[in-house]
Amino acid sequence: MTKTFSIPTKLPYAGTTIFTVMSKLAADENAFNLSQGFPSFDCSPELTGLVDHYMKKGFNQYSPMSGITPLKESLAEKTSLVYGVDYHPDTEVTIVSGATEAIFCAVTAVVHPGDEVILFEPAYDSYRPAIDINGGVPVYITLNAPDFAIDWELVRTKITPKTKAIMINTPHNPVGTVLSRQDLEQLAAIVKDKDIFIISDEVYEHIVFDGELHHSMMTHPILRERSFVCGSFGKTYHMTGWKIGYCLAPKELSDEFRRIHQFITFSTVTPMQYALADFLKIPSHYLRLPEFYQKKRDRFNAAIKDSRFTFTPSKGSFFQIVSYDRITDEYDYDLAVRLTKEIKVAAIPVSVFYQDKKDDKLLRFCFAKDDWMLDKAGEILCKL
Ligand code: PMP
Ligand code: GLN
Repeated sequence: MTKTFSIPTKLPYAGTTIFTVMSKLAADENAFNLSQGFPSFDCSPELTGLVDHYMKKGFNQYSPMSGITPLKESLAEKTSLVYGVDYHPDTEVTIVSGATEAIFCAVTAVVHPGDEVILFEPAYDSYRPAIDINGGVPVYITLNAPDFAIDWELVRTKITPKTKAIMINTPHNPVGTVLSRQDLEQLAAIVKDKDIFIISDEVYEHIVFDGELHHSMMTHPILRERSFVCGSFGKTYHMTGWKIGYCLAPKELSDEFRRIHQFITFSTVTPMQYALADFLKIPSHYLRLPEFYQKKRDRFNAAIKDSRFTFTPSKGSFFQIVSYDRITDEYDYDLAVRLTKEIKVAAIPVSVFYQDKKDDKLLRFCFAKDDWMLDKAGEILCKL
């Protein structure tokens, strides 16, 4: 008889991620997919042309463990240009297979069993599993609608001798807030003189609106010295499927980060790295993103202006959260499923980003979609 196994799970609370669930449902139902965060339009043909070029040139074997030198150099140059901060390409820049890997490696590098990690909810779904798998203790601080601001005095009260790291996400997924200079000052005042690391998810660094600036952790000296700044090329260049990300961190932190990375994926897809090394040299590709996405945000928000949804325009990321409390009191997950099936528009229920599945009657729409789709989805949503 065949033996069947039952594996005691390390992640009892985690089913299949909401992004996979909703995208599958949207596909099955032939619905407009404004749920999972990915563009409905293609990346630049210049970029795919470069990949083609490098593949044909034979750049098809393993890349060095920490990434190819030209990409690490291009990224260091871009970082210096944009933020005025220098990272050494050899020792402080590591190319990995997406920001998800960067975050996992950073957490794994610093968190030992019993260490506490402070994180804010709503929280992107990969943070807690990374902490748990490493035997860490997640310490949640809940951010509340409508502004989802961080109460730094509350953060201060959560620091204990066991606090090993604080996880930051700016611009924020799902709520679209951005941290201010004052937020960075407050955080720096809290961690100064303490052995606390910052794991900073900045994948939407180039998607900020209304003339606001992205304040990277690297721009504050006290934060820079202890931060793993995690980024993703997927968001910036409209190719989330390539799964190429990076971590910028001081040498000692990068050393430990790489020790982990080499046993998780070892290295990242080679020809794409060469293509990105060239593409990154042209600043307009990322400098025009705020305008590009602000137009999409405004288009979607204009399309739902006369609906019964209420919202504050997103300040960053490619997500808009909306309140539906004037429409129905259904559980947000049930509503998201029902809307996908009945009116053919898919969204993400915001409760999934809270550990207790707190339901504030909010849905997250991704506006990284073609204009016609934003208009059409808006038209349908206005009928609710
Ligand atoms: N962090 C946040 C906040 C994200 O929204 C995403 C993906 N959309 C990631 C990390 C993961 O990025 P990647 O696809 O490069 O792994
Ligand atoms: N980050 C994307 C989102 O928030 C999804 C990425 C994924 O599916 N893992 O929608």
